Amino acid sequence: MRKVQGNDAFQRINFLYQISKEVVIKNPVLAAYYGNLAISVAKKNVLKIHPDIKRQLCKKCRCVLLDDKTAKVRIKNKNKCKRIQFTCNTCRMKKEYPADKGKDHRIWLEKPEAVDQVIS
Ligand SMILES: [Zn+2]
Repeated sequence: MRKVQGNDAFQRINFLYQISKEVVIKNPVLAAYYGNLAISVAKKNVLKIHPDIKRQLCKKCRCVLLDDKTAKVRIKNKNKCKRIQFTCNTCRMKKEYPADKGKDHRIWLEKPEAVDQVIS
């Protein structure tokens, strides 16, 4: 069996993300601390955080963004393009993603050809 590089760090990031999501409604500052830890673990081990996790963290305070609870989610029209805008309730930072109906906005990791090998 092949070993996954940085497996321990991935598990730690996963745990930090989950605990951050769990604690965010009661204590957003603690959640931001866990988010910060997750990102620094990834940086220290030179790993990429999975986009699904990364998109849920505020880019300024690293708090988990949940719709209606810790963030405002709006759909905006910019130059005839639809975009999803997240506004963090803790630090008011905004982040945006394109979300047009007809276009393929998937990132590389979400496409089927990105899967090289499945390790069980
Ligand atoms: Zn924030």
